[in-house]
Amino acid sequence: MTATVLDSVPVSFDPQEFQKLTHIDLSEPSAQAAAELLHAALPAARPKAMYKVCYIDDRAEDSVELEGIRFNSRVLSQNLSEVERVFPYIVTCGIELDALEISQNDLLAGYVLDGLKELCLRAAIAHLKNHLAAEYGLTVEDLSTMNPGSGNKDVWPISQQRPLFQLLGDVADSIGVHLTDSFLMIPNKTVSGILFPTEIPFVSCQLCTREDCPRRRAEYTGVVGMAGH
Ligand code: SF4
Repeated sequence: MTATVLDSVPVSFDPQEFQKLTHIDLSEPSAQAAAELLHAALPAARPKAMYKVCYIDDRAEDSVELEGIRFNSRVLSQNLSEVERVFPYIVTCGIELDALEISQNDLLAGYVLDGLKELCLRAAIAHLKNHLAAEYGLTVEDLSTMNPGSGNKDVWPISQQRPLFQLLGDVADSIGVHLTDSFLMIPNKTVSGILFPTEIPFVSCQLCTREDCPRRRAEYTGVVGMAGH
């Protein structure tokens, strides 16, 4: 299955969220330069997401296999022990903000832009979750994620980003994200991982075409909601 790209992520700038993140109060006269930069940069922001719908082909105590690609993590395997369908993904603030011409010596501009990129990344994550919930009969609250390299390094090593990128296909062409030899993602405000439902709502199976699923709880109908509900 090919990956789906979401490249029309809405960004609604919230000055309070920005302040929480950066401690810059845009209503203060001293923040005028920051406000002007944001005003100029916001129209360029293009956060994006890409994801795939995958089914677990095989599982072992310390790994799972998706589309013939093995992911090594005992915790991942445990978290997916009751799950059949997962959503490998990459979300990013987009390369467009990095392309803006800002002096390398302008520390404030770099800081402000980094704050905006973080808000764009959050918008992309929220958009992806809302999209998955609407498309696959899930609820946003029940979607959990695991990310290579986050938390204890042994939980799911950061090097596992390589098979994740391999699984998703041409990530650079699709959303502009590059993975370096040291497993850093560029642009910096980018997250990769696997989203999965912590509980499988009944309605979810009604929208899922997987044949012979051992955990199917309802016939496929292609329609959200249950008859009479
Ligand atoms: S049929 Fe239901 S349990 Fe099986 S993969 Fe689809 S949503 Fe998950």
